[in-house]
Amino acid sequence: MAAAWQDVVRDAAAVREAAAVAVDAALLAGVLMRTGEQPNASDVVNYAPFTLLPSAVPRALFEQAYAVQQDFNLLVDAVSQNREFLEQTLASTIKVDDFTARLFRIYKQVLEEGLAQTVVLGINRSDYMFDCGLEGTAALRQIEINTIAASFGGLTSRTADVHRLVLKVLGKSEEASQLLPNNPAKGLALGIAKAWELYGSQRAVVMFLVEEVQRNIFDQRCVENELWNRNIRVVRKRFRDVFEQGSLDASRRLYMDGQEVAVVYYREGYVPQVYDEQNWEARLLLERSRAVKCPDIATQLAGTKKVQQELSRQGTLEKLLPGHPEAIARIRATFAGLYSLDEGEEGDRMAATAIADPDRFVLKPQREGGGNNLYGEELREVLEKIKDSPERTSYILMDKIKPQPALNYLLRAHSPLQVSECISELGIFGVYVRQGRELVLNQAAGHLLRTKAIEHADGGVAAGVAVLDTPYLV
Ligand code: ADP
Ligand code: MG
Repeated sequence: MAAAWQDVVRDAAAVREAAAVAVDAALLAGVLMRTGEQPNASDVVNYAPFTLLPSAVPRALFEQAYAVQQDFNLLVDAVSQNREFLEQTLASTIKVDDFTARLFRIYKQVLEEGLAQTVVLGINRSDYMFDCGLEGTAALRQIEINTIAASFGGLTSRTADVHRLVLKVLGKSEEASQLLPNNPAKGLALGIAKAWELYGSQRAVVMFLVEEVQRNIFDQRCVENELWNRNIRVVRKRFRDVFEQGSLDASRRLYMDGQEVAVVYYREGYVPQVYDEQNWEARLLLERSRAVKCPDIATQLAGTKKVQQELSRQGTLEKLLPGHPEAIARIRATFAGLYSLDEGEEGDRMAATAIADPDRFVLKPQREGGGNNLYGEELREVLEKIKDSPERTSYILMDKIKPQPALNYLLRAHSPLQVSECISELGIFGVYVRQGRELVLNQAAGHLLRTKAIEHADGGVAAGVAVLDTPYLV
């Protein structure tokens, strides 16, 4: 699978010509990001980083990832509704992790008041790598599932066209015609539109809850525009705006300066740095409201690393999804080894194992957004330091996935064109809508392939490490 473009990847002249075409095609197609210098203005923009060549992905694993997505939607939804499971699973974490504890407090508070809305909208992205076995066979291994602010569904709806053109320029029209169509933006919008419709007010708007620094606005605009195409009004607001303009009426309808909000779609809110006291107050207001939250706070908690680790424990899936043995088998087949570091014998043993052989593992805190995990020597140092303290509980341990690298060019503005050894991560978008007890929508909504140079252990596209890619099925 490493050798898809062997004949051209070292042909400097061909690569230079194709790269020039690729960059202009990306700009024309709208694969865009604002610049670091002017992150909140669109006067000067640039292309979002992407690979010159599509990356080879084993067809069987790609199909496996699609086939399990509805199961994962079901699972996330089940976890989010299971108070006992969330309480037990996160009990040790919230003793030591203030951020998760604070989210959990809001979760309990809204349950005690009683939920004002029975419609739930879930948009997630399940991420995988292809673990390379001894005989060179690859296996699909889930890295994590993102249940809040899963991004790049918009921009990646436009990358296949760019790669199709690049392959043609390189004399590979036949291969170009095999690149799959992909439109997560449409799929995400479909879910949001369904939730909006079930809310049941023509006048009410969809609110994108956005960041203070909005470099990735074009990714969001792709989804917004799909909603406008359906004649659904969209507004963009920050937590700060909610604090200043938001209010609830007697039946907990959410208003922003007098405008009723049907759906809150969070593209922000998953890192602790975002929350000062006013923003926590805004978050609570949104969660208490009758607006459909995507995700609601329970679903955000369902996406924590600690929950992921407990899901892999023998017997847990059976308890959460009774009567779904086939879904359980499909889900479990994607799990990598995951280990608790809670206080006690099991945690002691795993901590010792990881200290002895750190390259086998990844150490993960309860954080999202990339750049938080620990590897190799650093993993060993940190574990040595915390192995006898309760702080250990705020991490989980995971088997390190080792994909087979392939050569590619990572195209980034202001960066030299050079070949890199790369590995890829495949994400499948999932969308579901539940009304009361009934799932009225449950779909896979498209895919995202991100690729990075092997020297980076961690990090996504927004973190400046990975770039957008297109799968070429082999
Ligand atoms: P985050 O919530 O910060 O995105 P992830 O679990 O997705 O956390 O990890 C971030 C990145 O670290 C991933 O995109 C992947 O590149 C790398 N990574 C995470 N887990 C593993 C693993 N088990 N093996 C190899 N790389 C991993
Ligand atoms: Mg991730």
